[in-house]
Amino acid sequence: MSSHIQEHQVTVYIKKRYDKNKKTNTKNGDNMKNYSIWKKDNQKTSYPSLENDLEVDVLIIGGGLTGISSLYHLRKSNLKVVLVEQNKIGYGITGNSTGKLNVLQNDLLDKIRNYYNDDIASLYLSSQIEAIKDIMKAIKDKPIQCNLEKVETYLYTNQEKEIKKLKELKVFLQNNHLEIKDGNNMFVESKYMIKGSSYIINPLKLIKGLIKNNPFPIYEKTSIKKIIKKKNSYICYTKNHHIKAKYVILACHYPTFIKSLFFPLKVNIEKSYLSSSICPTKPFSLISYSYPFTSIRTYQDSIIYLSNSHIIDTKLKDKNHYKELKIKLKKLNLYPDYLWSNTDIMTSDGLPLIGELEKNLLIATGYNTWGLTSSFLSGKVLRDIIEKRKNPYIDLFSPNRKRIKDISFYIKNIYHNINAYLKSYCISNTSYKCPHMGCKLIYNEIENTYDCPCHGSRFLEDGTIITSPANQIFKKK
Ligand SMILES: Cc1cc2nc3c(=O)[nH]c(=O)nc-3n(C[C@H](O)[C@H](O)[C@H](O)COP(=O)(O)OP(=O)(O)OC[C@H]3O[C@@H](n4cnc5c(N)ncnc54)[C@H](O)[C@@H]3O)c2cc1C
Repeated sequence: MSSHIQEHQVTVYIKKRYDKNKKTNTKNGDNMKNYSIWKKDNQKTSYPSLENDLEVDVLIIGGGLTGISSLYHLRKSNLKVVLVEQNKIGYGITGNSTGKLNVLQNDLLDKIRNYYNDDIASLYLSSQIEAIKDIMKAIKDKPIQCNLEKVETYLYTNQEKEIKKLKELKVFLQNNHLEIKDGNNMFVESKYMIKGSSYIINPLKLIKGLIKNNPFPIYEKTSIKKIIKKKNSYICYTKNHHIKAKYVILACHYPTFIKSLFFPLKVNIEKSYLSSSICPTKPFSLISYSYPFTSIRTYQDSIIYLSNSHIIDTKLKDKNHYKELKIKLKKLNLYPDYLWSNTDIMTSDGLPLIGELEKNLLIATGYNTWGLTSSFLSGKVLRDIIEKRKNPYIDLFSPNRKRIKDISFYIKNIYHNINAYLKSYCISNTSYKCPHMGCKLIYNEIENTYDCPCHGSRFLEDGTIITSPANQIFKKK
C-alpha cells in the first residue's frame, strides 16, 4: 500500500514538472537550467587554492576524470603527488558528458579500422573493455554511489548506405567476443540497429567517489600558467606560486603549454548540444553510427538527448543548434529542464593521445568523445610509465606516434583554422578576443558564456576560463 502511494506521488510530481516545463518552454524557456544535469545536486567538492610553493614528485594539472584517475592509480605509490584544478573538480568536459561507459562508440572503431587495420582496432576495443572493468571494480571496491545501471544499448543508422558498414561492424564486434545482436528501439527512426549492453553513470558522482579518502592534496581555483623545464624537473607557475615537480601530467583536456605540438593543426574540436527532459521510461542507451551524432540515454525520470554534433569551426552559431535541438525534442514531446553544450578533442586516427611527450612530461587527451573510458584508462597507463611497468597500450596511444596519413588532415585543419578565424570576425556579437589565438568570441545566449568558435575555449561572463586552450582570463574592454 505505502509503495503504491509513493508511486502515485512520484507520478503526480513528474507530471507537474513535465507540464510546467512544457508551458514555460513553449513561452520563453524561463524554467530551463543552463548547465548539465549532473551539476544539479550541487555536488561541488570544496578544496583550498594553493597558498604556498611546493616541491613534489608528480604534479597533475586538471581535475577531470583524466586527472582524478591518475590520482587514483597513483594512490598506492610512494610518490608525493599533488593535483591542481583551475576551477572546480569535475566541472570541465567530464561534468558535461552523457555519462556512458560503452564500447559501441559511434563509428570510431571503423575509423581506426580504416586508418590502421582490424588488429589495432581490436587492441583499442580491448582497452575500452579493460577500462570499463576497472571502473566497475573501483565502484564496487570503494564503494561508489554513482547511479550505475547496466542497460541495453543500441547503435543505429538511418542511412541506407551505412547498413552494410554497421553489419560489418557487428561481425567485427562478435569476432571480438562481444554479444551483439540486431536490435529494435522505437525512440528513433532507423534503417538498421544493433544491440549490446553498456553502463550508464552520473560522472560527477563517479569522480566524487574516486577522490574520497585519497591520500594526496588537491587544490581548486589554482591555474597553472606556465611550465619551465629546469635540469631534471619542471617548474610550474600559478599566478603567485610555483610547484617544482619531477613528473608533470597534463590532464587539462587541451594542452595549452606545449606550443611545439601545433595542436590546432593536429586535432579537431567537436561540439555537441545536450538536454535533459522529464520522460520516465525503461532505462536504455542509444547512439547513432555517424554524423551528426545523436546520443540518448535515460537518467532517473529523465531522457538525456545529445544532438547536432559538428566540428566547431564549421557551423559557428550555437543559437541555431539549440533551436534545432529544441525542434527535435518537441517532435518527441520532450520539454527540457536542462540545456548545455560540450566539446571534446578529435584525433586524426581515432586513437587517444596518452603517454610521454618528452622526458617526464606526460599527457592524456584526444578521446574522440569517448573519454570516460579512455581517461580512466589513461590514469593506469601514465602510472605504468612513471613506475616503469609494462602496459600493452603504451605504444598504441603514444602522443609521439608517427601518423603518415595525416598530411591531408593538417591541410584541412589549416583551412578550417583560417576560415573560422575570419568568420568569427564576421559573425561575432561581442568585442572580445580569445587570448589563445585572437579569434573573436561569440556570446552563447543559452549558457551565458563567451565561446571561441575556432578552438573551443570558453569563458564565464566575468571572463573566468571554463574550458582551455586559453589559459588566461580575457580582458574586458
Ligand atoms: C557532448 C559530449 C558527451 C560525452 N559523453 C561521453 C560519454 O557518455 N562517455 C564517454 O566515455 N565519454 C564522453 N565524452 C567524452 C569525455 O567526457 C571526455 O573525453 C573526458 O571527460 C575528458 O576528461 P578530461 O579529464 O581529459 O577533461 P576535463 O574533464 O575537461 O578535465 C580537465 C580539467 O583541467 C582543468 N584545467 C585546464 N587547464 C588548466 C590549468 N592550466 N591549470 C589547472 N587546471 C586546468 C579544467 O578546468 C578541467 O577541469 C563526451 C564528450 C562530449 C563533448
